[in-house]
Amino acid sequence: MIDLRSDTVTRPSAAMLSAMMSAETGDDVYRDDPTVNALEAEAARLSGKAAALFFPTGTQANLVALLSHCERGDEYIVGQQAHNYKYEAGGAAVLGSIQPQPVLAAEDGTLPLDVVAAAIKPDDIHFARTRLLSLENTHHGRVLPLDYLEQAWAFTRQHQLALHIDGARIFNAVVAQQTTLAAIARYCDSLTICLSKGLGTPVGSLLCGDTALIARARRWRKMTGGGMRQAGILAAAGLYALEHNVARLQEDHDNAAWLGAQLQALGVSIIDQQTNMLFVAVPEDQVTALGEWMKAHGVLISVGPRTRLVTHLDADRAALAQVVAHWKAFLQQR
Ligand SMILES: *Cc1c(COP(=O)(O)O)cnc(C)c1O
Repeated sequence: MIDLRSDTVTRPSAAMLSAMMSAETGDDVYRDDPTVNALEAEAARLSGKAAALFFPTGTQANLVALLSHCERGDEYIVGQQAHNYKYEAGGAAVLGSIQPQPVLAAEDGTLPLDVVAAAIKPDDIHFARTRLLSLENTHHGRVLPLDYLEQAWAFTRQHQLALHIDGARIFNAVVAQQTTLAAIARYCDSLTICLSKGLGTPVGSLLCGDTALIARARRWRKMTGGGMRQAGILAAAGLYALEHNVARLQEDHDNAAWLGAQLQALGVSIIDQQTNMLFVAVPEDQVTALGEWMKAHGVLISVGPRTRLVTHLDADRAALAQVVAHWKAFLQQR
């Protein structure tokens, strides 16, 4: 199967599995796992933050970040389409009594600072205490401009807000902007990173921040059931990914652009393509048939009027050429 539903579908390569097999392990709840410790040290080094913490999932890392920044009765300002507002089952509200204040993102994925300013509540007993601004980078494939991040950072300092970046795909931004993780992370108090998307590990996310934040996060991680034991097996995959799978994300971006150009040549209309995400318009009356056709030909896509195609390390140019051929055949038989 060629699977373009998401970059979460990647499988560990033989070399990654071999790194996992030979990982030295210990009990990470006792902080005895040398491989987890090495991964956390590497994440701290790359992000320029004092500390980092390893999590099974990005959802838990984002939740714990919010729990570590905010208290009961606080609120965070977040994008209406952001993962840690819309796609995390309301965890901050349910488990943290932290109220989300969603705002509409601009076309480029930024949250306009005048809109954010208007959403900050005055210090008044009627209101939740606005404590944090949460940004997402990349947001639906879009890379937040560095000058915007710099402005958001200054803005949050001025308004006494913490700034969190959900950087599930932050390395796609790093590669697209030809910069470093630290050059982006200097504009936030905390940052989450997914290892299990374009970086290709089976499991794992990281939260980076200062020492006090990570100390609070360690307690919340334990409380929410994320204290893993011989997690070095998983951390070894993360270390392998950080070493081998970052620079190659450029291939995914080039492949998404190539796929977009090929589909456009077939008459498919392109809605957007940035980093490893391509959005194409599929006429309403073709949606079901296209999904079935593709599946019958060994291609999985999340088909809809706005179809998202995600490139990743398990779908090379040859696989994408097959997708184009099947799409062409689909359009011809109609
Ligand atoms: C995937 C993702 C996460 C975390 O997802 P998990 O599946 O829980 O690891 C968080 N934020 C964004 C933007 C994501 O795409």
